[in-house]
Amino acid sequence: MFGLGTKNIGIDLGTANTIVYAEGKGIVLREPSVVAKNTKTGEIVSVGSEARDMIGRTPASIVAIRPMKDGVIADYDTTVAMMKYYIDKAIGHRAGKPYVMVCVPSGVTEVEKRAVIDATRVAGAHDAYVIEEPFAAAIGAGLPVMDPTGSMVVDIGGGTTDVATISLGGIVSSRSIRMAGDKIDESITSYVRQHFNLLIGERTTEKLKIDIASASIEKAAELDKQTIRGRDLITGLPKTIEIKADDVARAIQEVIQEIIAAIKETLEETSPEIAADVIDHGIVLTGGGAQLRHLPEVISEATKVPVFIASEPLDCVAIGTGESLKNIDVMKKK
Ligand code: ADP
Ligand code: MG
Repeated sequence: MFGLGTKNIGIDLGTANTIVYAEGKGIVLREPSVVAKNTKTGEIVSVGSEARDMIGRTPASIVAIRPMKDGVIADYDTTVAMMKYYIDKAIGHRAGKPYVMVCVPSGVTEVEKRAVIDATRVAGAHDAYVIEEPFAAAIGAGLPVMDPTGSMVVDIGGGTTDVATISLGGIVSSRSIRMAGDKIDESITSYVRQHFNLLIGERTTEKLKIDIASASIEKAAELDKQTIRGRDLITGLPKTIEIKADDVARAIQEVIQEIIAAIKETLEETSPEIAADVIDHGIVLTGGGAQLRHLPEVISEATKVPVFIASEPLDCVAIGTGESLKNIDVMKKK
């Protein structure tokens, strides 16, 4: 009756990365949410980092797919295939079917939530339960979510930025906007196209962002410039240019301002007591986007509230999802 190894796992099924937490072990897998498929046979060529390295470099017969978009399932079958691969990889074939806790953004519809539960079951879960992403992020960031004190968490992922205030074990107010890492990348790509007539690939854009992007135009002026390569739109030939950090900061300003607006709106909706708690404890940033240079300073300046980055921002949701597995026995009985 018992399989070998662990039975309960938590999955952070992100737009950019999938992270698996196994009960009693902690994080056992971190991989990009990417699948490479053969378009002729439908066969899966590779999953994860190997597939990500193929983005923009595949021959005609292979496509690198990101099956999650804006925090929800965009390609059901590919999501199932990816999850199945990761569940097997995380716990091994010989283990019994696990109970799985999986996160969803706070703004999703019932249909989108159902799709996640179904996909997880089809991918090999004995049963699946969902937890709201900002709540999981807050647990993973070590915030006192069960206490009668207000906390605010801002999770900036690939597809969505989720903003939430939390108190007494529940979400008090929240916002989920489709403005996060991917939109930052798109803004950079279109800026480079418009200003340099240069077409750059997804991987080049992300590297440029991680290397020199800043949330603050002023502060970016002190940063370096970077050499990037792509295809000249006029000649059609490969071209190299140099781009300055403050230009990159200018390119992404609109997204930064939208994130700040969502934070402000969420704060405006909270009770005075919770607002006061947030002023005392500050806003905590999680997700890969939290690592954008100068972001805490820029948000703090706009909201007049202290802002911190969680330790291990990329792992918070998975840790919180895993921690909440403790409640799975209660949920099973429902
Ligand atoms: P998701 O939960 O949607 O899968 P993650 O929390 O894993 O997303 O974060 C992925 C996003 O974070 C990507 O858009 C990635 O480009 C971005 N990111 C990762 N590191 C950095 C960094 N140092 N600066 C800015 N953005 C980053
Ligand atoms: Mg996430």
